[in-house]
Parts: sequence; structure tokens; C-alpha cells
Amino acid sequence: MTENNENTQPKQYVTTTLPYVNADPHIGFAFEITQADAYARFKRLTGHEGFFNMGADEHGEKIWRNAQAEGRDVQAYVDHYAKQFDKLKAKLNASYNNFIRTTDSDHKKAAQEFWRRCDDNGDIYKKEYEGLYCVGCEMFVTEKDLDANGRCPDHPDRKPEAISEENYFFRFSHYEDALLSLYEDQPDFVVPDRRFNEIKQFVQDGLEDFSISRKKDKLPWGVPVPGDDDQGMYVWFDALVNYISTLGWPENQKQFTEFWRQGNPVQFAGKDQIRQQAAMWQAMLMSAGLPNTNQIFLHGFINVDGQKMSKSIGNVVNPYDLVDEFGTDVVRYYLLRHIHPDEDSNFTLDKLTEAYNGSLANGLGNTVSRIASMYSSYDVDVAFDQEAAMQDEDLEILTEHMNNFRFDQAMDYIWQEVSHLDAFITDREPYKGIKSDDEDDVREAKEAVAYLALRLFDIAEMLKPFMPETSEEIQDILKEGRDPEPLFERKE
Ligand SMILES: [Zn+2]
Repeated sequence: MTENNENTQPKQYVTTTLPYVNADPHIGFAFEITQADAYARFKRLTGHEGFFNMGADEHGEKIWRNAQAEGRDVQAYVDHYAKQFDKLKAKLNASYNNFIRTTDSDHKKAAQEFWRRCDDNGDIYKKEYEGLYCVGCEMFVTEKDLDANGRCPDHPDRKPEAISEENYFFRFSHYEDALLSLYEDQPDFVVPDRRFNEIKQFVQDGLEDFSISRKKDKLPWGVPVPGDDDQGMYVWFDALVNYISTLGWPENQKQFTEFWRQGNPVQFAGKDQIRQQAAMWQAMLMSAGLPNTNQIFLHGFINVDGQKMSKSIGNVVNPYDLVDEFGTDVVRYYLLRHIHPDEDSNFTLDKLTEAYNGSLANGLGNTVSRIASMYSSYDVDVAFDQEAAMQDEDLEILTEHMNNFRFDQAMDYIWQEVSHLDAFITDREPYKGIKSDDEDDVREAKEAVAYLALRLFDIAEMLKPFMPETSEEIQDILKEGRDPEPLFERKE
């Protein structure tokens, strides 16, 4: 399996999608950040130098119209919302390397250079177009995308708008075979499998060229199309380029080569993004003569109290409130262990509270208290490895789960090891042996506690990617020989 050798490990690139900044972040995006962050932290911990990208998608019709409707300057409008997403990464303790905004001037230049390369490759042409546009998706839609009422299934409250104008088009149709052979060559290109099958089917059914620009007099908010003052780039074309502009492409070839070309670029996205990420963006990369992503992981959606989150129902869960109530690591814990990584899941506060009391206040918190209390008072001295590393067997098991994006199974393994410690305490009863008049009993009690302390230290090491602050706290308690306050107070 994996060898922990810095010299031979490929560099790891990880990115979330860029949320569209027209509303405050909800729990669904906090879920994506937390998964990507745990993955990035795990890779770094196991010897891969990492680059973790996050950011904000700030162009497009929806943003333009919302800013107009609120009578606000568009740049001020996107600045406000970008800040909300920017704050979220601190709230969730995301170990990002760059937060890219698509209104950054370097990004705009990169998007223009990307356009030029696709154009040089003969993949961009202009034509008069009439079509239906879903402003909710920021996508042109065809009849087959619409439901029986002629509405986009994701935006049934918005009628798709008929648009007729002269636009630039990208020769998506040209890339059917190339995409299918990419999927053939990389059997884990999209995880989970059922989503991978969905995109294979979509490409097999035939691709239609898509519009990649809008007339500026209709939509003045976008990256200018190189060499045509009347046209601005279609928001997706510009936004997708962020995944490499964040690395400094095209200027910073060194970083691009290390993390994208020769590294292991992995993208995290919601299941509704499959066409954009696994087909459109990949065809665009091929057209620009650049390597494809290595892997795309698609997470499921979070429903709240059994319903899709929506402003009109009023059931949108705000991740800031959750963190204020429970703390960063508790929210990370819940999202990673109790929300299924790739299927739709239901979120309720009751379930979160139940998991908190059961697995954190009891469970981990209680085990830490018991062991630290014995360790601090039994005159046992253990040399904890200052350059801590995971035990081989732990590393092997966690690596397999993480490479399959099974955050829940990785954490189940850690909690299984926590309960082994509880069973060990019950079995050995060191709290009795330590009081014995028999020297052997006392020695055995001390040996048992030394083992418990060492194994708890290992468990804390495994927790690093998932609950970084808790992990550090447990290791500090042990190193300092402290009898600590409870890590997690019970909640009623
Ligand atoms: Zn839509």
C-alpha cells in the first residue's frame, strides 16, 4: 500500500466547486468544503504536498440581475457575498491554499488565454442562435431537459427564457470519442460508479455544441471575449478555468506542472454538476491542449427534515449557526460520519444532537477522560512520538477508505478503535489493579494504562484530517499528562 515517503509521493491538488455568490452559504456547501478539506489534510498527512483550492464564482446573469434588482453596484454585491464564503472556510477550519475569485484580474486573463487556445484549435465559432436559457442553472436547455410543464426540473418556478442572438459556440460535439476514451482509460474517473454511468450515457447519447458567450449589451457582467468587444464570456466557460488559474496558469508553469500535469488533481462537486465537471470542462481542457482532471468525486444533497432545502420553505440550515452552537469539529464530525458521502441524506438537529451525545460526549470524550485521568495519576511515563505518524495498519485501512471517498467508513474505523479501548479498560480493570497490594497487579495496571495512552495517541493521529483541533487537544493532554475537563459537554 502507501509508503510514507515524501520524495516519491505525487503532489495532491484538491478543489471544491466555486459557489455562485448570489446567496449566503448553506449546509450543502459546508459539506463539500469539509469533505474536500478532510481529503486534502489526509493526503498531506500521508506525505503528499497539497494544494487545496476554494473560491467564488462571480459572473453570470443571475448575479447581474439580482444586483440590479437590489439597486446595488455589481462589484459591491459580489464582494459582499464572496466575503460570506470566505468566512465559511475559517469557520470550518478549511486548510485551503488559495481562495480564487473569478473577478480577480489574473483569473480573467487566464480565462482569455484559455479561450484563445480553444480558438486556435478551431473549436470556437460564431453563429446565430435561438434557444431556451434557464437563468437558475445559467445553462441553455433543450426540450429534453425540461419537464412536462416546460420547466427546468431544478428550477420549476422559473420559466426558461427564449434567447435569440449571435454567440460564440464551443465544439463540444467534436469531443464525444475523446471523452469516452478518457472514461475508458480512467475507470475511477468519476466516483461513485452510478454517476459515472450517468455521464457515460450522456456522452454516448451525443453532444451538442454549447454557447460560450453573451452579447455585452444584453449582459455586460462577464470576462470580455478576446478580440470581440461586443461579447462577454458565458459564465461557465470563465468559471471552470478557475481550477487551473488558481495555480497561476498560464504564468506559473512550475506550479501548474507540479500539481496538475504531474500531480493528482481531484475535484469535489455536487451530483448536479456532473455534466459541467466531467464532460464540458474535460472537453475544454482537451481543446486547450491541457491534461484532464484525474478524478471527480460527486457528493449527494442534504435534505432538511425530509425536504429539499429552500428559502421559501424556510428550512435552510446555516452552517454558521451550527458551528456557533456545536463547534467546528462537531460539525465536521457530523457531516463526515453521519451524512452519506455520495447519496442524498436527511439532516435534522435532533439527529445531530443524538450523535453528539452518543459518540462525542460519551464515546470519544468519555474515553479520553478515563484514560487521561488514569494516565495523569498512575505514575506511568510514555514517550510519545513527537514526529507522530500513523501505525501501518491504521494507515492502510484509512487510505483505502479515503481513496474511495468513504469518509463515513474511515471514521467508523476510528470509532471502532475507540470502543476497543473501552472494552480493554473493562477487561483489564487497571483502576482496581493500581490499588492492589500485589506488585504484579500494580505493574500490570500501569502497563495497561501505558498501552491505552499510546493507542489513544494513535487514534488522535487518525483524527487529524477530520477533527484537527480535537486531535491536537488529545495529543496535548497526553503529552502534558493532564487530567482534562470534558472535551464535549453533554447537550439536553
Ligand atoms: Zn435550471
